[in-house]
Formats: sequence, C-alpha cells, structure tokens
Amino acid sequence: MIAELPHNEAERLAALLEYNIMDTQPEAAFDDLTELAASILDMPIALVTLLDSERQWFKSKVGLATTETPRDVAFCSHAILHPESILEVEDARLDPRFAHNPLVTAKPHIRFYAGAPLVTSDGRALGTLCVIDHKPRKLTEDQRHLLRTLSRQVMTQLELHKKSIELKELGKQLQKSNRELENFTRVASHDLKEPLRKIISFSQLLQMDLGDDLLPQAAESLEMIMDGSRRMNNLVSDLLELAKLGAGPLKLTRFPLKVCVQGALEALALRIEESGATLLLNELPEIEGDKRLLTQLFQNLIGNALKFTDGAVPRIEITAGQKEGQFVFGVKDQGIGIDPSFQDQIFEPFKRLHNRDQYDGTGIGLAIVYKAVEQHGGRLWVDSKLGHGSHFQFTLG
Ligand code: ADP
Repeated sequence: MIAELPHNEAERLAALLEYNIMDTQPEAAFDDLTELAASILDMPIALVTLLDSERQWFKSKVGLATTETPRDVAFCSHAILHPESILEVEDARLDPRFAHNPLVTAKPHIRFYAGAPLVTSDGRALGTLCVIDHKPRKLTEDQRHLLRTLSRQVMTQLELHKKSIELKELGKQLQKSNRELENFTRVASHDLKEPLRKIISFSQLLQMDLGDDLLPQAAESLEMIMDGSRRMNNLVSDLLELAKLGAGPLKLTRFPLKVCVQGALEALALRIEESGATLLLNELPEIEGDKRLLTQLFQNLIGNALKFTDGAVPRIEITAGQKEGQFVFGVKDQGIGIDPSFQDQIFEPFKRLHNRDQYDGTGIGLAIVYKAVEQHGGRLWVDSKLGHGSHFQFTLG
C-alpha cells in the first residue's frame, strides 16, 4: 500500500531542502551511527534514509548496496506519518501495508523493520533511522529506547551539517564584503586624495608665483588652506588604514620583532634627527605576527613618544619582558604623561587629550595600535602619570 502524504508535506520538503543533505557524500559521523545501530541491535541492515517528493535516499547505509528507492515502496514513508513514535513491523509478510511490497517479495527480502523518525525541532519528519532484518523479530523496550536515542543523534548530526554549510556561506559572504571594502578603500583613497593633492600643489604654486605680491592677509589664508589640506590628507590616510585593518586576515610569518622597530625608526628618521631624541633598544625575540601591521604599531607608538614631550628632548626605550609566560613589549617615554582618568579613552578613534595648537594629530594612531594588537589576539595598556612619562605595553596573544 502506498502511504498517504504527511499533513505538513510542503513544509516538510522545504525543511529537508534547508538541510542541503540530499545526494551529499558519505560522512563518518552518520556511518558511525548506522554501524552502532546495526551492531548493538544485531541487525544486518541499518539506514539513515531521507524522503524527498520522489524517493528515499540513504545518507548512510550498512548491509545494503542501493543508494535509494522510489518513495512509493519505502517503509519510511509510513514511518514519517507519526513523527512521535517508532514504526515497528514484526513480519512484513503479515502486514497488509507491506505484504506485496517488492522489497518484501524480492531482494532484500525485508521481514522485520523498525524506523525512528528524524524530526526537526518544529516537528517535521525528514526521514528515519531504521534497522531491518531478513527474519521476523520484535524489539524490547530497551532496544526501542536505544533506536530513539540514536535517531536523535542522527538529527544532531543533520543540524551540524546544516550549520557548517551556513558557516561556509557566511565565510564566503564575509570574504566578499572584505574584498568590497578593500576595493572601496583603494578607490576612496585615490579619489579623496587626488583633489587634496591638487589643492596643496596649486596653493604652493600660488605662493611661489605671487610670493611678495600677496597681501599679508591673503598669504595667511593661503597658508591655512595648505595646512587644512595637509591635515585632511593625514586624516584620510589614517582613516583608511584603520578601515583596512579589520578587513583581511593577518599575514602571519615568523621573524625577529626588531625588524619592525627598525622599519618604524626608518620611517621616523627625520623627526628623530630633528628632535635629537635618544633611543634605547632592548633585545627583542623572534615572534609570529603580521610584519606590516606591527611596524605600523611601533611607528605610531614611537611617533607619539617623539611628539608628546612639551619641548623636551625625547628619551625613548623599546622594552621587552615576560609576564606569566607571555612576552610583553612596550614603548616607554619620559614625556608629558597621561592623566589616569583619561587612560581608557585614548584608544578610541578621534579621542585626543590636546587641541591642535598644542600637538598636531588625527586621534587615530592609538586606535590603529589597539586594533593591530587585538587582531593578534593580544592586549594593550598604558602605565602613565601626568608629567612622568608613559609606558605603552602590549602582548601578542
Ligand atoms: P594623536 O597622536 O593623533 O593625537 P593618538 O590616537 O595617537 O592620536 O593618541 C590619542 C591621545 O592620547 C593623544 O592625543 C594624546 O593626548 C594621548 N597620547 C598618546 N600617546 C601619548 C604619549 N606617549 N604621551 C602622552 N600622551 C599621549
């Protein structure tokens, strides 16, 4: 007899589709469960079967060569009509629903069948975990309990399968949006900076061409235009750098950390020379990290140590130590220091404790440092007292 369709057939089929499981490759997690069912219940055949509109397909099978059968002859079609209970057929030859079924009258000569429906949390039966024998049998209460328990395990595996596909899909979307963001930052960088460069260079041309002919007030205005444009240029660069930071995975390699300090010092060479700063470099170990990002980190920290001095000659130390089995690196200065009540805020983008007349800057440097450390799985903090220098320290996870 052909089984009637479940009352929620359309939703059931939709749910099955969501699991993306039909016609997928065998998976050990499912095969382990059918093996278990066959061996503990001592059955020659155990199957994880899933029913779509046309057929029952076996996600996992023990003791059977075929991969699917038409839905019309599937015992499972009957089992899913009652998601809450096991369908047990002690002798198929004696059951009018199955006596003339070709799976009974011919190979694989089913006599005994017990199927526990695989039910989603909202009550849709996708298929069964079933065991089959070539001779009539009857399950004990314990065996029925076991089959139910195993069927819930199959359902857990189906959920995991669904989640892992969703995760892969999310990963792909994330990669796509990262690529788009990178594209955006590249284009924005070019498009925003190009007109700025024009403003700066034409202002310079004006200054050179008109020179002494400029009224003092006009000369001052021109100077302000150039100053504003330069600041905007720095702001755009820093903002783009901050945006780029979260966008891609780290390029992790193993290298001596001093390479990054050297890179930062080269980039700051002019400012170091002009300020007459003294620098003390401690021994640094080999680490695993993103070289470009860590160079930028040191450049920002050393740059700040050069800047926030209140006119004194900067004295800067690159520190390295160990705490609870972890390397701790740092940049220590003897500059103006930071009021403890503001120390939490300085890592936020645009947070500055001084106005531009005192110290130039965009307020993004420490936000970049913070993100770089965070991306390495590390921690960043500052020890400082107003007027007594600052020691920025970080770990790399
Ligand atoms: P910026 O340097 O552009 O102002 P940062 O994000 O690098 O921005 O720093 C944020 C604020 O933290 C600074 O404006 C300054 O007030 C404070 N700060 C950072 N580094 C130091 C330092 N070495 N000594 C004293 N203050 C500092």
